[in-house]
Amino acid sequence: MTTLMNFPSLSAALSSLFGEGTQIETTNRISGGDINEAYGLTLTDGSCIFMKSNTKENRALFTAEAAGLCAIARTKAIGTPKILGIGTDEARGGYSFLLLEFIYGKSRARNYWEEFARCLSNMHRAPTAGFVSKGKYGFTCDNYIGRRSQINTGHDSFTEFFRDCRLEPQFQAAARYFDKEDWKRIVRFLDHVDEILVEPEYPSLLHGDLWAGNVITGNDGAAWLIDPAVYVGHAEADLAMTELFGGFPPVFYDAYKEASPLYPGYEHRRDVYNLYHLLNHLNMFGRMYLSEVKHIIRGILF
Ligand code: ADP
Repeated sequence: MTTLMNFPSLSAALSSLFGEGTQIETTNRISGGDINEAYGLTLTDGSCIFMKSNTKENRALFTAEAAGLCAIARTKAIGTPKILGIGTDEARGGYSFLLLEFIYGKSRARNYWEEFARCLSNMHRAPTAGFVSKGKYGFTCDNYIGRRSQINTGHDSFTEFFRDCRLEPQFQAAARYFDKEDWKRIVRFLDHVDEILVEPEYPSLLHGDLWAGNVITGNDGAAWLIDPAVYVGHAEADLAMTELFGGFPPVFYDAYKEASPLYPGYEHRRDVYNLYHLLNHLNMFGRMYLSEVKHIIRGILF
């Protein structure tokens, strides 16, 4: 396992990684992120690197993101940017930073979506030993989904993990949005989650937040994964998330299913996986997500 370089300042990081005295020549702000500030930094030695920054207090976001990127890289199944280091800098009032290989993402290679599907399926089939400290599902550390924390306590049962570490905490955080009738349904639903979801044939490392904004064209023209919220779970939860905000082209799903056939009944479980993300959006952004959440709760049959 590679050890993460942890720097006391940005200039110390640049000197250590690129040679004594290396500095920033130009800074380009990159848009597109929800949580952090993102920059492309061109250095005095000509290198270009990617930096995310946040407050000092939010440094844990970067430790968790780095752990997730490391885990994805360890599967050797799919591209993800190399981690250069993380750190905290006292300059400018103090900030934390994550430095990554810069992805130029020029043009997409041939069969981009089919190859992406095959690589994702390979990631889902990679061994998960070492990704969970206790039990089969979870992750070695807690991490974040968006800016909210995500509990990854190890469980032997996936359905119990999904209930205890995914749905329940989000419902609790969203408690004020639900009336008595809603709560009756929610409690009944949580009591029956193990009858709605199924245990997977094999545990899979998941990206955990797999929407189009977190798939980027890598320097080799293939689809690479960024900004993960990894955990070991049921592969179909990743697939469900890809369908939540618009979906990927049909060729992606055809190729994925060819590589890893879906279990019967996936279409019914998809909403339960996505309920987690919708609840998270409800908790992050407010009630515009409430009707979709209630719609799913009312439509789930058990
Ligand atoms: P946030 O953590 O705020 O959601 P993202 O990880 O989504 O930030 O990244 C913000 C922007 O930076 C996105 O537009 C993304 O495409 C781009 N980006 C992310 N990682 C890299 C990278 N390694 N190289 C170049 N651009 C990147």
